[in-house]
Amino acid sequence: MIFHNRYCMELPQDPKQYLRTCRQVYEACYTLTEASPVSNPSLVIHSPEVAHMLGMSPDFCISQEFVEAFSGNKLLDGMMSYASCYGGHQFGNWAGQLGDGRAISLGELVHEGQSYELQLKGAGPTPYSRMGDGRAVLRSSIREFLCSEAMHHLGVPTTRALSLVLTGDRVYRDMFYDGNARPEPGAIVCRVAPSFLRFGSLEIFHSRRDTQTQKKVLDFLLRHHYPQFSQLPPKEAYCAMFHSLCEKTAHMVVQWMGVGFVHGVMNTDNMSMLGLTIDYGPYGWIDNYDPSWTPNTTDFMQQRYAFGQQPSMALWNLEKLANAIYPQIEDAKPLEDALQYYVDYFERSYRDLRMKKIGLHEEYPEDKEILLSLNRALQSTEVDMTLFFRGLSRCKKDVDERASQQILMEPVCDSLYRSSTDELLLWMRRYQKRLQKESMPDVERAKQMNRVNPKYVLRNYLAQQAIEKSEEGDHSLVHTLLDVMRNPFEEQSQYEDFSQKRPEWARNKPGCSTLSCSS
Ligand code: AMP
Ligand code: MG
Repeated sequence: MIFHNRYCMELPQDPKQYLRTCRQVYEACYTLTEASPVSNPSLVIHSPEVAHMLGMSPDFCISQEFVEAFSGNKLLDGMMSYASCYGGHQFGNWAGQLGDGRAISLGELVHEGQSYELQLKGAGPTPYSRMGDGRAVLRSSIREFLCSEAMHHLGVPTTRALSLVLTGDRVYRDMFYDGNARPEPGAIVCRVAPSFLRFGSLEIFHSRRDTQTQKKVLDFLLRHHYPQFSQLPPKEAYCAMFHSLCEKTAHMVVQWMGVGFVHGVMNTDNMSMLGLTIDYGPYGWIDNYDPSWTPNTTDFMQQRYAFGQQPSMALWNLEKLANAIYPQIEDAKPLEDALQYYVDYFERSYRDLRMKKIGLHEEYPEDKEILLSLNRALQSTEVDMTLFFRGLSRCKKDVDERASQQILMEPVCDSLYRSSTDELLLWMRRYQKRLQKESMPDVERAKQMNRVNPKYVLRNYLAQQAIEKSEEGDHSLVHTLLDVMRNPFEEQSQYEDFSQKRPEWARNKPGCSTLSCSS
């Protein structure tokens, strides 16, 4: 394994090495920090695809050396361990320095010309831990591990997860914020991405009027992550990079909206400079289609990061980033243009995706209204988003739009949570009529629709069931879920149960419908 560690080699380091005392760190991007040892690490699961991507052999992944390395107990040759400094806007307010409070990077590995940062989450305190203990619990680690991989297989840009280990140590968490902290099993996920740089990695230097260090980060990003612009004069290059990031971010959010993913904490410290989904905390998946739904209990009042808010929140975050890099550019116009580009790109691309999701490949004047009224119908009827779109591919062109309710609703009846379906029925009639104008044969249309409408998503209640079993020592469901989520668009007859809509018992159960940030 070759670690080139260019982040550490090329960016300014905090001169106070290996000092974990919490403090403000100036003019530096990271602090060399050791992971704190854990007492009895054991492997719960690893992702064979990620291991392969990194050039790690299957044998190595089940070795003691692997467990020791990815629990933070031992550095492999060439690794460097450090915690990064960044800031962020949290829930609309500037929060100052945040940084890797419980993430410790192990350096950057190169394999087949690609560079990957490996990062442990939950490996102990760092100078950025503030009030936290630097640890993570099993439930949140299972959620991060499974969701990273599920998102990847759904085609959503995301950080990946290599491994999940139990530490053998207990971690105390007050899950309901009611003063009753309980001991939980501690765990560590090793996540992987070309870079974990965030919007907040640039904002922190703007907040300190430290344009010099900020420029170093921008140039680093250009050199390694946006090399296509690195030959341009600096101001132009930064603008081009920002423009490209606007597109990547729009693409990412379109993909979220398409599969019903709600990030839950879109603070600027959780927004990737590469347009990847980053930091899986109190995220959730839409069961019944409700744009005002947020899984995050901390956000219930404000609903700032609710499903339907995500496109505008990403824009808000990009605006904060534009402000932060403005002093390097001193021209607002190209930044404003890029933000406008985000809006236009998002709208076009989201519309295209929704048309694909309902299998309409030609353009007709009524399409706009069909999309609008679908949104209304899905909201007024309690409909499971995933099952609805998946079922829609079973509609046939030769069915008359005046057919009986039963015939029209049959393809999507699995998706209904309750029986009042008037508005949806109306929509199905309209859709049926529109479908007749499409020239594509039913079989081909169904095939194409099934490539964008997953059968399997990591439903909140499924992850919760895996967690409950795992906390009792049985990790089999975590393994099964990873296997199911590997092929989300395929019919997998042995896994039919995992495509079922949320059972009634899960409607208001913590972990299944709501999540606190306590993790
Ligand atoms: P998040 O909302 O999970 O992205 O976390 C926001 C900030 O809090 C980041 O700087 C994290 O590193 C930090 N943080 C979260 N949990 C802990 C913890 N248990 N110990 C130390 N820092 C934490
Ligand atoms: Mg974070």
